[in-house]
Amino acid sequence: MTFENTHHFAKAMDRQDPLRSFRSKFHIPVVNGKTALYFTGNSLGLQPKTTKRFLLEELEDWAALGVEGHVHARRPWMYYHKLTKKALASVVGAKPTEVVAMNQLTVNLHLMLISFYTPTPKRYKIITESGAFSSDQYAFESQLKFHGLDPDKALVELKPRDGEYTLRTDDILAAIETHRDELALVIFGGVQYYTGQFFDIARITQAGKHAGAVVGFDLAHAVGNVPLSLHKDDVDFAVWCSYKYLNSGPGAIAGAFIHERHAKNFSGPRLAGWWGQVEKERFQMLKGFKPMEGIDGWQLSNVPIFQSAAHLAALEIFQDAGMKAVRTKSILLTGYLEFLLKEMDVSEKYFTLLTPSSPDERGAQLSLLMKKDGKKIFKALTKAGAIVDWREPDVIRLAPAPLYNSFEDVFQLGLLFKKALK
Ligand SMILES: *Cc1c(COP(=O)(O)O)cnc(C)c1O
Repeated sequence: MTFENTHHFAKAMDRQDPLRSFRSKFHIPVVNGKTALYFTGNSLGLQPKTTKRFLLEELEDWAALGVEGHVHARRPWMYYHKLTKKALASVVGAKPTEVVAMNQLTVNLHLMLISFYTPTPKRYKIITESGAFSSDQYAFESQLKFHGLDPDKALVELKPRDGEYTLRTDDILAAIETHRDELALVIFGGVQYYTGQFFDIARITQAGKHAGAVVGFDLAHAVGNVPLSLHKDDVDFAVWCSYKYLNSGPGAIAGAFIHERHAKNFSGPRLAGWWGQVEKERFQMLKGFKPMEGIDGWQLSNVPIFQSAAHLAALEIFQDAGMKAVRTKSILLTGYLEFLLKEMDVSEKYFTLLTPSSPDERGAQLSLLMKKDGKKIFKALTKAGAIVDWREPDVIRLAPAPLYNSFEDVFQLGLLFKKALK
């Protein structure tokens, strides 16, 4: 695709966009009386217009039925977690029995670590990327301490080579090989939250398993953003949140995947609650935990219906659009943004792109390492009606979300950016 830095070109791209009608399915914030240029769908996705109806229906059913809603609501609350499975499975490339919406991301990460990080005196190390999202770092640190291990010794954090910003897959594989005899767990972000690097899930998983380790991914920035095939790639477990690209609302219900290979592994450690108990016996309130097969057996509590209703509304849009079409547009949209940015700062006086240039190694996010006047430029963009993201100490993240951002949005952001540089 040859891009052009003209309004005419951006509008032509929008006219040809098979997903162009999806923008109108979302509420787009207004700043100073103008529709905002919203580029922070990687932080909090926008609200689908259908979300309100889904929530109202649950409020109505609660008002009309009280406790009977568990069985008689139009979407009976007792079985609500089953309603999101099909859509989630298609978004992460899994079987419906391998995924469930539950809890919040960090909670799910801990639940998975309790079951899948089982260190022995010989195998105890965790390999991950350096600079992982803080919550993940705290989870790893506290899990290691929980097992009586020293994070300084047991946590291997891989850094990019000097002068580089992202990890090379070959270096990740080499590190796995180096630590293979002590390795218990390999865990990476699917898409790195800071740099926007999309890791090679298939190759990392293969190498980790070859080394005899368990392999998991935190897909917070990957889900609803890049193509995933967790089942085929043989990933052991994965977790994600759904308020970023999945547009399910602030603090939305999160999700988890466990490969069906582990579906009947009932002997390992896990934390249990009544919603994981075999369905037929759940209300008998008997002694003795008998988990359901698969990921459902990791559920703890009854389903938060309002969060799940919002999740359902948002997932319906993904099912209508299809991840394939979302990805196709995403590659063009992010490519267009990259083209405009590079054109306005050819000599990299103001910024360097941290995010890989190859579409295979990134999703819908470009991270700019600001070399000069970073905070000033960020503030100028904000003042002019763009909602973009600043990460300390010096990074601006821009995420064109293909479901609601247009090529015209990207063009307009380019104009504002150019003005801010002056
Ligand atoms: C957004 C994000 C989180 C947030 O954790 P919550 O438990 O949802 O508050 C954690 N990890 C990563 C990698 C994230 O991108």
